[in-house]
Amino acid sequence: MKIIMLGAPGAGKGTQAKMIASKYGIPHISTGDIFRANIKNGTELGAKAKQYMDKGELVPDELVVDLIMDRFKEDDAKNGYVLDGFPRTIPQAEALDKALSAAGEDIDFAINVEVPDENIINRMSGRRACVGCGATYHIKYNAPKVEGICDTCGKELILRDDDKPETVKNRLEVYHNQTQPLIDYYEKKGKLKEVDGTVDMNDVFNAIVDILGA
Ligand code: ADP
Ligand code: AMP
Repeated sequence: MKIIMLGAPGAGKGTQAKMIASKYGIPHISTGDIFRANIKNGTELGAKAKQYMDKGELVPDELVVDLIMDRFKEDDAKNGYVLDGFPRTIPQAEALDKALSAAGEDIDFAINVEVPDENIINRMSGRRACVGCGATYHIKYNAPKVEGICDTCGKELILRDDDKPETVKNRLEVYHNQTQPLIDYYEKKGKLKEVDGTVDMNDVFNAIVDILGA
């Protein structure tokens, strides 16, 4: 099964993608996570990506497309994947289509998690990410057992630099200009499914399972 998660930054794509990955036994591939791992490991790619990420801009398509194509070659991606944060532009979607159709494949669903802009700042200012394993929490809606500490690995939880309100505003603008057109793109391909992302995360997941099949 090949699934794309669409939606604004902070809509809950990563939260749902992790639940999908675990239920359906497919890898959760997040380009944002891959870039953050590269930044943490001090790679050249990480240094390049950081310049854009810190401003809330998109990393240039050519860097992202090469990276994701390499990731698809890994063994665990043979039976599908759930993509979170990719594609984010029309050229990225076209590159994905081209690569899949060359292999006689296609995506199964593009799931748009709908959350209005008014809720996004609140979602992102409350998001906390683990510096160790990358797990994501929310101080109100999905709080860790001990404040500031990851339930899974015990490391520190931080507010991502790009989740600060001034950067979130730009990320939302970038989303509306460059990523939202993908909703139309996948609708025209007959792949689009929409879910209400404002409800409790377990109810969002139930709606997704209704689409994907139990
Ligand atoms: P994205 O991957 O789309 O950027 P995340 O999955 O990281 O978004 O979610 C953003 C923040 O909102 C996180 O702190 C997460 O815990 C919280 N969150 C996710 N889904 C919901 C939901 N349905 N209701 C309330 N908070 C949510
Ligand atoms: P995310 O973790 O998905 O919120 O992504 C964090 C940041 O990484 C984004 O604001 C972009 O700067 C960058 N990024 C992640 N995925 C992509 C992508 N597909 N195209 C361009 N930039 C991306």
